[in-house]
Amino acid sequence: STQVYTFGGGVKHDDPRAKDKVITGGKGANLAEMAGIGLPVPPGFTITTEQCVQYLAEGGDFSDALRADVAQALTHIEKTVGKSFGDAADPLLVSVRSGARVSMPGMMDTVLNLGLNDETVEGLAGTSGDDRFAWDSYRRFVQMYSDVVLGVEHHLFEEALEIAKEDNGYLNDVEMTADDWRKIVKEYKGIVDAELGRPFPQDVTEQLWGAIRAVFDSWDSDRAKVYRRLNDIPGDWGTAVNVQAMVFGNMGDTSATGVAFTRDPATGEKAYYGEWLVNAQGEDVVAGIRTPQYLTKAARERAGAKPLSMEEAMPAAYGELAAVFELLEKHYTDMQDIEFTVQQGKLWMLQTRSGKRTAKAALKMAVDMVEEGLIDEATAIKRVDPMALDQLLHPTLDPKAPRDILGKGLPASPGAASGAIVFDADTAEKRADMGDAVILVRVETSPEDIHGMHAAKGILTARGGMTSHAAVVARGMGRPCVSGASGLSIDMKARVMKIGKRELKEGDILTLDGASGDIMAGEVPTIEPELAGDFATLMVWADKHRRMKVRTNAETPADCKMARQFGAEGIGLCRTEHMFFDASRISAVRQMILAEDEAGRRTALEKLLPEQRADFAAIFEIMRGLPVTIRLLDPPLHEFLPHADEEFAELSDEIGIGVDTLKRRAGELHEFNPMLGHRGCRLGITFPEIYEMQARAIFEAACDVAKAHGEAIVPEIMIPLVATKKELEILKALVARVAVQVFEEKGSTLEYMVGTMIELPRAALMAGEIAEVGEFFSFGTNDLTQTTLGLSRDDAGKFLPVYVQQGIFARDPFVSLDVDGVGQLVSLAAERGRVTRPDIKLGICGEHGGDPASIAFCEKTGLDYVSASPFRVPIARLAAAQAAL
Ligand code: ADP
Ligand code: MG
Ligand code: MG
Repeated sequence: STQVYTFGGGVKHDDPRAKDKVITGGKGANLAEMAGIGLPVPPGFTITTEQCVQYLAEGGDFSDALRADVAQALTHIEKTVGKSFGDAADPLLVSVRSGARVSMPGMMDTVLNLGLNDETVEGLAGTSGDDRFAWDSYRRFVQMYSDVVLGVEHHLFEEALEIAKEDNGYLNDVEMTADDWRKIVKEYKGIVDAELGRPFPQDVTEQLWGAIRAVFDSWDSDRAKVYRRLNDIPGDWGTAVNVQAMVFGNMGDTSATGVAFTRDPATGEKAYYGEWLVNAQGEDVVAGIRTPQYLTKAARERAGAKPLSMEEAMPAAYGELAAVFELLEKHYTDMQDIEFTVQQGKLWMLQTRSGKRTAKAALKMAVDMVEEGLIDEATAIKRVDPMALDQLLHPTLDPKAPRDILGKGLPASPGAASGAIVFDADTAEKRADMGDAVILVRVETSPEDIHGMHAAKGILTARGGMTSHAAVVARGMGRPCVSGASGLSIDMKARVMKIGKRELKEGDILTLDGASGDIMAGEVPTIEPELAGDFATLMVWADKHRRMKVRTNAETPADCKMARQFGAEGIGLCRTEHMFFDASRISAVRQMILAEDEAGRRTALEKLLPEQRADFAAIFEIMRGLPVTIRLLDPPLHEFLPHADEEFAELSDEIGIGVDTLKRRAGELHEFNPMLGHRGCRLGITFPEIYEMQARAIFEAACDVAKAHGEAIVPEIMIPLVATKKELEILKALVARVAVQVFEEKGSTLEYMVGTMIELPRAALMAGEIAEVGEFFSFGTNDLTQTTLGLSRDDAGKFLPVYVQQGIFARDPFVSLDVDGVGQLVSLAAERGRVTRPDIKLGICGEHGGDPASIAFCEKTGLDYVSASPFRVPIARLAAAQAAL
């Protein structure tokens, strides 16, 4: 099949592969698409991702077939443009651009102005009639090519340029004359020679293949790998290479370059949004070398900025651009992120893609576009990344709280964050690993900073606009970011930053407001998020389209209330042990555990009964009308024991047993492998009085609340860590005995269910038999993952990251369900359980209940509900809808 696809210059694409992102990458596919709908796209060609994969696998050289295809495709560009590659009189110049299936901002390297050498530069000067332009382009090319392809460090070139400007007394690049650039080129070539021991390549074909090779190689660069790991992008996709005729935004004041979004990527507002620069090449806008200007008059006026907007300065080209925006949004039915260049008044399109957006913007655009009739509800549901909702559910700065404002930058990525100042990515990562909240403060960020940006709670940069690296990456990661804070300077040696008249040291606390751009000293209190508006609208749509119910894992009244506000439809897991840690009852719990005999335990349990009853009553009250699954005591008892000497002394005083006795008892409870030890239903089997007390507390509370409200409460009592039918039989009988007693005492009855967690492989295998007793299953996938993989969750931190890095696991199996392995046990147990008891209720209550990929698996397996922590409930609602669509 074809491996090189041409675009532009009126080529027709019959082969669907040309516009398939998998084959030609996102950039290439969209260039072909844009050219196809008649937009002005400089002609070019794309080498497929398949060639990249093959090249990286085989190493070595390119095939003759590929070289022939490329030569032919180059002829297509030459014919269309009417110039020849390497022609000393009238040279064709090209850009060589990477483009993977999904966009990886800044991860791959682009080379512009390729095809220039000592001869062709004169040709370019001649045909353009502009010496300065030609030499400016040449110096850009030498620097970029040397940096990206030859691996010469770019600061060497930057320093040479700084010195030249200083010598001439210039402040800006624009003051450099043709002659100045000519001298710089000579110096640059000298640097290359000195660094590499060979001259800068003059042969244009060698230049081209060098660049193609560099693009392919960059797929396996460290920074690309880090980005892929953070974004779950497989390593075997490869990148395409796009070779495209250059258009020049640096041909004087009727030329320009810019980037734009068809809607505001931060707020979602339906207004063109972008930045542009007169007399500049593409990289200048994102690199933050010159501060870009506003695209529209309205945006410029709102910001109170002076330099004219494109709308004002180039009304004709702007009008054309606006028409393209409209056309592209309708064509792709989504917000587009666009790169363009104006060469002497003529508009050229260089890229379009669905734009990255904040969660807030994603929501607003999805809802707006349904109202505009551009997309339907199902599409809107699919447009919003469930995990991105996290950004919206978290607190923002309290507007009434006092703020010690140090300065302001651009509101590059919304959300609020406070933390200790750090000045480099490694320190950010180190301190975050130690549990500190940090704010990464940089002059500007680059792909080498990704790990630090990920570790930081927020990012602040002195340079760069809304489309700078820092801004784009922070928005993608959901980190608040303030960029381009021009009043900020950093002294890396002293490790201090100056902003306005203030000075802050590394480690000082800083607060950022990514929505306003405010930079504040100290920590500013936050307030709860707003759940109305677009969020509510999308949730209504999601609820309409999902099949599975969404419950929550909660045990405190506060969490239960919050989960209900987030739309939880009941409790899937109430972990009763969490109620035991409360300061007011821990001594009774300890007394119970340390008692020598049953009588001693019963005395202590008497004290706990009213407390537990009150806990359950509060939960039933909040969850009225909704199912509540309560798990009886699960963890090994020694988890509740004191550790320090003074704690033992205190306990001894309280319960009148000597410290030595207490310590001896505690020693007896020690286990070598507590995860597989005396826990779960094994506690209920050996100390039935504990489960009796808990069952009693549940029934008494349920009867009381049902009576008070005249509303039925249906408790679901869940027995943990069952491996055999017999265990469940014994404990179900225990629960039934208590039920009969309580109903007699209360003179009322109610319905209830007894079920089990499926969290041991044996339980999954024997699910058919266990379902004869158990009325529901809840998959406890945390333990089921531990027990199936033989992988201790509490110890895996030491080696699991390496496993993920080496691709042994695609993702941490405690975060995203191991569908292939653990998933088999889940589906098998569901199947066998249903055979025995066709109406058996099935749910999942592990951490995975809030993970979209795992939720998709639950939908496929036909579970009745997922249960997630309160903050994950909206994520689960949306993910469940996406899974059902
Ligand atoms: P990235 O993926 O990092 O944005 P691109 O390949 O899109 O890299 O290119 C970087 C910059 O160079 C962009 O601003 C782009 O518009 C510009 N550019 C790329 N190709 C050309 C070209 N043929 N003519 C003019 N500018 C170009
Ligand atoms: Mg680009
Ligand atoms: Mg468990």
